[in-house]
Amino acid sequence: MTLRPHRLTPTELSIAVSEDDGLEPSASTPPPSFPLASSSVPLCRRDPATASPMTLPEHAFFDLIVIGAGPASLALVARLLEERPAAIYTEDEHRHLHWLKKSGKAGNISRARTIKTRARGSERVISTADDKSGYGSRAAAAAAAAADTDGDDDRDCECQGLMRILVIDRLGGWMKQWDNAFRALQLEHLRSPLFFHPAPADLDALLAFAERHGCASCPDADHNASGSLTKPSRAERRQRRRQDGETAESLRAEHHHRHVAPPGYSLREIANCVGKEISKHRIKSRQKRQGKAHSAGQPAAIDATSAQGIDATAGYARMLRDIGPAVNERDRKDYHVPSTKLFRDFVQQEVVERYGLDGEWRDAHKVWKGDNGHPHGGVDSASKAQTNASSPITLAKGEVSELHWGELHVEGWDHMQGFCIKTEDGSQLGSKAVVCALGMAGGPALPQFITRPQSPSCAGDGWCHSSAIFNPSYQFPPAASKVRGKTCVIVGGGLTTAQTADLALRRGFDHVEVIMRGHMKVKPFDIGLEWMGRYANLAKMRFFQEEDAATRLAMVRCARQGGSITPPWAARLRALEQQGKVTIRTHTKVDDAVYDKQYGQWDLKLCTKMPLPRKKCDACELHKEPEVQMHRVRAAFMVCATGSQQGFSALPFAKAFALANPLPEAGGLPCLTDSLQWGREVPLFFVGALAGLQIGPAAGNLGGMREAAERVAVRLGELSLGIPPSPALLSGTVLPSQDRKSTIGSKADVGTESRGSDHASHLGFTHFGFETLPVEV
Ligand SMILES: Cc1cc2nc3c(=O)[nH]c(=O)nc-3n(C[C@H](O)[C@H](O)[C@H](O)COP(=O)(O)OP(=O)(O)OC[C@H]3O[C@@H](n4cnc5c(N)ncnc54)[C@H](O)[C@@H]3O)c2cc1C
Repeated sequence: MTLRPHRLTPTELSIAVSEDDGLEPSASTPPPSFPLASSSVPLCRRDPATASPMTLPEHAFFDLIVIGAGPASLALVARLLEERPAAIYTEDEHRHLHWLKKSGKAGNISRARTIKTRARGSERVISTADDKSGYGSRAAAAAAAAADTDGDDDRDCECQGLMRILVIDRLGGWMKQWDNAFRALQLEHLRSPLFFHPAPADLDALLAFAERHGCASCPDADHNASGSLTKPSRAERRQRRRQDGETAESLRAEHHHRHVAPPGYSLREIANCVGKEISKHRIKSRQKRQGKAHSAGQPAAIDATSAQGIDATAGYARMLRDIGPAVNERDRKDYHVPSTKLFRDFVQQEVVERYGLDGEWRDAHKVWKGDNGHPHGGVDSASKAQTNASSPITLAKGEVSELHWGELHVEGWDHMQGFCIKTEDGSQLGSKAVVCALGMAGGPALPQFITRPQSPSCAGDGWCHSSAIFNPSYQFPPAASKVRGKTCVIVGGGLTTAQTADLALRRGFDHVEVIMRGHMKVKPFDIGLEWMGRYANLAKMRFFQEEDAATRLAMVRCARQGGSITPPWAARLRALEQQGKVTIRTHTKVDDAVYDKQYGQWDLKLCTKMPLPRKKCDACELHKEPEVQMHRVRAAFMVCATGSQQGFSALPFAKAFALANPLPEAGGLPCLTDSLQWGREVPLFFVGALAGLQIGPAAGNLGGMREAAERVAVRLGELSLGIPPSPALLSGTVLPSQDRKSTIGSKADVGTESRGSDHASHLGFTHFGFETLPVEV
């Protein structure tokens, strides 16, 4: 059985298994990661909290609840609402489809497989099962519902079979966490390139938006000799453009655009990524001019501050020279980072407003109680229509504190399987399916020497975690801290470390000590270029073919290499070091840290172990112990830019659910199905960082979100529309090797997510559908 589109229909969400599936739980197998479904085994273990069915009012029950309203959530919701997602059409087809739509020749367009829902302010229904045109109307939807022989409920219900979606976030707004982080650190540009964005219709949407607004590229700041992030002068820019062989035409275009682009809109080229296909002649003439090769790429990070004291930027440049170019010249326009304002306006206009997601965020309590004009909340139809017109989605502010899956009783309906979420304010909301878009989700990962009176905590006496700085209610540095003439210690080796060091100096500290466990890694993105090419790439292919979760985890960790700093910020940090404002201590650990509350001072014992130079070949050198140096540092404040813990089942609100529906994890990441589902039975999905084992190292960044949204949307479409799953997505779950021994190769594993399909049961174990990857021909 599959989920039908209509909210009144299913009494069970799980995919029932037919008798002939023959899936028997084996006595020799350890407890399965998720229940093996068969007619003799309950579809899911009953959560003790839902032992007696929870009762919910009808208006508090939704088809889908999305927890979190960050970019990953936005990408998913927009994808559900998009009629023609880019993933199923080439970009040329897309343009053509939009032209057809505009010119009213929609009749020829084949149906898109999207969730049925209503676009903003229109009477249109996006793609109904029977609507061959792809441009359904209310009448078409009603006709489709009438033709549905399975049930009569659809015809009478005012929702007309449209999917009802609730998005709930503790901050109560789209991308508020993102905004807080960018505002706190006063970041002017993103780190990611132009094809990383949440808009589902077009991979080039952000680039097109920038071009439409006359944004000109300004060169990367890492060329700036002073190491400052300020823009080079116009003359410098011209000179460099000429050197790079740019035509007079583009210079004229830039001149023209300078007057057009709104304030705060800019693009910054990511230096030295592009140039793979530059002609030999051009490379030679460039070398002649510059005296050295200049075009290159950067697949890996480098030790920018090695034992020999190589300058960060010099080390980076050397690496570029050694490794060679990585990105084709024709993709140069993609390898720009947008300014914060440009990106935010793009998201607001091209995603939030375009898909009608700019509705009001109401307290979860109000949604639960059903007041304030909810579409199904017992108000008059005029206000219902108005609410629907302003947003097809219900938006709620509230922190989810409990998640349960089990039997529900929705008033006026039969008992059914479903989710019940509880929020901090005591509200209860239900749904057939849930998507978690929680970001890193876990609490701060803190060094051991930080003792916390209460857990979890982001700040204490004399210290804070970097996530506290992002919180608008936290003052950095705290008012009580004496800052003038004092030192701030920052622990961590990622981009946030560099940005916080800069912020600390701007907020009045005289000196910053940066402490890194390893070397200072410098690379333009969190992950290597080999992972984030615009088109399919080998690294991704290898990742998708890997069956073992532990190996996938190792690949993810290797690709991210912990934290890394972008070349402009590394240059900035190095410049501050040269000015004596920053000390960068690499290969250093904090041996002991004592905070004297009375004097407001940290006393830190640091141990630096510099690695030996690799090249030495004589025996004495090889056996020489690395040089160890001990330092003592006194500081007024400490910032731990040490990242977050990952893990869903450890989250307070998810503990009971994970206990009742266990699933293997690797490094805190759940071993989801390829559709990012929590096993085959429970319609709980993940987008964002927690889908790292399936999406790859970019899962937590903007780059992985569209792909995650696509996979989840397709699966939700299958559940709600009853479309048979495509063979590409009929695949198993990536498990840790010890779990695989018992399950992979067994009948259970050969099965599919939707085992209703006969075809599916004959398929082998496939881990990735290659047609879901955009492959460059
Ligand atoms: C300073 C900084 C700069 C960055 N720059 C870039 C960049 O340039 N490019 C890039 O790709 N990535 C960047 N990142 C990474 C960035 O965090 C991610 O790309 C993105 O924010 C992740 O989106 P998300 O939706 O998965 O999670 P988040 O943005 O973290 O959103 C998660 C949401 O879930 C909500 N939530 C969590 N738990 C609950 C709960 N129990 N109940 C209700 N709501 C809950 C939170 O309130 C939050 O709104 C940057 C990160 C930082 C910190």
